[in-house]
Amino acid sequence: MRKISVKLPDTPYAAIVHSGLLRNLGDHLAPYLESVTQVIIITSPTVWGLWGRPLQDGLGSISWQVILMPEGESAKNLRSLERMAEEMVATGADRSCLVLAFGGGIVGDVGSFLASIYMRGVPVIQVPTTLLAQVDAAIGGKTGVNLRAGKNLLGTFHQPKAVLIDPEVLKTLSEREFQAGLYEVLKCGVIRNAKLFEFMQANQQSIQKRELRALEYIIAESVKVKAEVVAKDEREGGLRRILNFGHTVGHALEAETNYELLLHGEAVGLGMNAATFIAEQRGMLSKREAKRIISNVAKLGPIPTVKVNPERILYRLGSDKKTVGGVPHFVLPTEIGRVKVVNDVAPDMIISAIQSICSGAGMGA
Ligand code: NAD
Repeated sequence: MRKISVKLPDTPYAAIVHSGLLRNLGDHLAPYLESVTQVIIITSPTVWGLWGRPLQDGLGSISWQVILMPEGESAKNLRSLERMAEEMVATGADRSCLVLAFGGGIVGDVGSFLASIYMRGVPVIQVPTTLLAQVDAAIGGKTGVNLRAGKNLLGTFHQPKAVLIDPEVLKTLSEREFQAGLYEVLKCGVIRNAKLFEFMQANQQSIQKRELRALEYIIAESVKVKAEVVAKDEREGGLRRILNFGHTVGHALEAETNYELLLHGEAVGLGMNAATFIAEQRGMLSKREAKRIISNVAKLGPIPTVKVNPERILYRLGSDKKTVGGVPHFVLPTEIGRVKVVNDVAPDMIISAIQSICSGAGMGA
């Protein structure tokens, strides 16, 4: 079992990574149930169908109610949130309930958003079931839903009471979703954890085979990175921006391809290549280190071929919600384990980087 502390000054909490945790969930929840009268499980039909039984066994004598939310980004909206809130009222949930968000990043974001506003806020515990949610979405307290105008435009910060991670649930995850999570793990290695990066390089096979020991290690090391960064900058004023390595171009690619072609992690994989290309061109990163990053991204699996107009991506970068004053920020690696945030990347260089990731040319994979 690995325990990582998320040391937020006002709301510290622990993330536990333990294979088989689901079967003993009741023990892990016990410390948080003192004044809780009801546990409301928010989950999706897929996750409930695959892992509902072990979770129920793990809860033992704790009383619970389940609320299912439909799958997919199209359900990550206010209508789903309102319907689930009505269901919560119907189950008799009051201010002394606890929400258990049991699923991927979508369930986590919507479930914790609901918890943050239900009766002006009830506690939430995250039990993430995709690799992406385990290493990223479940930690840090960002909640949200989409609007027609864009992703995650409504949301709150609502830190969970705990994050309980069972790597065993990943064995039913599709190959593509699993790989998408691995790009986020690699991101953590590049931005702040060279040992994790090296472990991924050296243990490619055990990771791809989803050997539990390897998974426990990479999940715990990624959670450590996110926990450290979030503890220093809860609301994304400064350091937290480094978590956006690969996201500047990644978000624009996702949006330009209507969120249909790429999974988020895949877009981040391409975005990391673009940022690495820029860092090397600017002389901030050695050729050797650039090659290591790019070949590791390539080893994680195929990413769908993207055909976009680089000018359109440039335009989107200027209008992204994280862009300040129309100037895109880039998180650029300076060596493996270190990055720098810059806001002066020339448009021509951004275009070249996008051309290089779209054609694969110039990338040393
Ligand atoms: P997701 O929640 O859609 O899950 C992907 C698919 O995997 C779904 O079909 C789901 O039913 C299925 N699934 C989940 N667990 C499974 C399991 N154990 N076995 C088999 N199938 C399983 O996608 P995601 O990639 O987990 O999350 C993406 C969302 O996370 C996005 O909406 C993104 O905005 C959000 N996100 C939030 C943060 C944050 O800080 N809050 C960070 C990153 C991403």
